[in-house]
Amino acid sequence: MTISVCVVGAGIIGLSTALQILQNNSNSKYEVTIVAEKFGRGTTSSAAGAILEPYSVGNTPIHMQKRWFSKTLDWIAQLGNDNPGLIGIHQLQINYFFTDDKPDPYWKDWLPGFRKVTAIEKKIACRNSSVNGWCLSTFCIDTSKYMAWLTKRIEDFGGRFQERKLTSLNQLSSYDIIVNCSGIGAYSLVPDPSVTPARGQVMRVKAPWLQHSCVYEDDKTISYIFPRQLFQSGIVVLGGTYQVGNWNTNIDKNDSKKIFENCCKLIPSLKNAEIIEETVGLRPTRPSVRLEIETRNVDQKEIKIIHNYGHGGAGITLHWGSAIDAYKLVEQLSSQGKLSSKL
Ligand SMILES: Cc1cc2nc3c(=O)[nH]c(=O)nc-3n(C[C@H](O)[C@H](O)[C@H](O)COP(=O)(O)OP(=O)(O)OC[C@H]3O[C@@H](n4cnc5c(N)ncnc54)[C@H](O)[C@@H]3O)c2cc1C
Repeated sequence: MTISVCVVGAGIIGLSTALQILQNNSNSKYEVTIVAEKFGRGTTSSAAGAILEPYSVGNTPIHMQKRWFSKTLDWIAQLGNDNPGLIGIHQLQINYFFTDDKPDPYWKDWLPGFRKVTAIEKKIACRNSSVNGWCLSTFCIDTSKYMAWLTKRIEDFGGRFQERKLTSLNQLSSYDIIVNCSGIGAYSLVPDPSVTPARGQVMRVKAPWLQHSCVYEDDKTISYIFPRQLFQSGIVVLGGTYQVGNWNTNIDKNDSKKIFENCCKLIPSLKNAEIIEETVGLRPTRPSVRLEIETRNVDQKEIKIIHNYGHGGAGITLHWGSAIDAYKLVEQLSSQGKLSSKL
């Protein structure tokens, strides 16, 4: 008996969910097809910074965030250790500086080495003794490399890919189970009007002399500088914007100017850096991540949908744990035995 599963979306959420299902596919129970309008570049996931740290996930219950985060951290740490550099994962220490006095974040014990920045760090790394800040250690992922690796693993396990833009999930009624990982696309595809873009623009520059990661936040801006040290490419990610309700996926030259100028204020040597590329992504924010089963009737047929979208500014941070829970829902549906599976 084979159960046909269609995963909608080839961003980090769709790819990791498809791989979860295929990795656990004993006796070839599932036939998995990934349908997406965009693969690789063009997804929000490929535009991300991208570090592991909970950010902008609305009211998603903290115990769920913690579970997803800890599964993701374990997975990424192991992959990074087993394949140093090869799949785009490396560890980094980040200094955060703020002009206001923030309370410690709820996730401070989820990451190694969380502490307040010292007076010397403020002076050397920020040249401003009046700021507050934290220091922590986490993982950074080059999502293009990592998603290419996930894609290859899915192919090795027999997963299939289809490039197609859907106008409704009902178009997939021939599948036994649909897993909706459409990110910002869920706004019109579900449709779910609570999905709102938080537009992020970043640039990649060549600055091989730069080793230290840094985030600076005041009442008007947030600037970040993440060198990708491990790959010796000299590439440094500079960000960024967080524009709620902005659907523009084109580069905004005003944003480019502000990002570059703000990062140069923080680290003046960046003014000599060559700009390699700029990217934009729409963070799929919503009141909370949606991970649940929906049953619909389409042309007198009951269709089963597992939603896994709305990860806001933390899709990279939570992807693997969220994929594990989505896979559990696939198992739950398949064990109910009401699917019109092929015999
Ligand atoms: C600048 C920036 C920096 C970020 N930094 C971080 C960070 O440091 N850490 C972190 O955890 N997160 C970060 N994020 C957030 C993170 O990138 C997102 O949470 C994550 O990429 C969402 O992944 P996704 O797979 O849900 O969406 P996407 O990557 O957008 O994938 C959605 C997929 O669904 C497909 N799709 C959508 N609609 C349809 C349709 N109608 N028909 C067919 N296919 C469809 C798309 O083509 C695509 O393949 C950042 C985001 C941005 C923009």
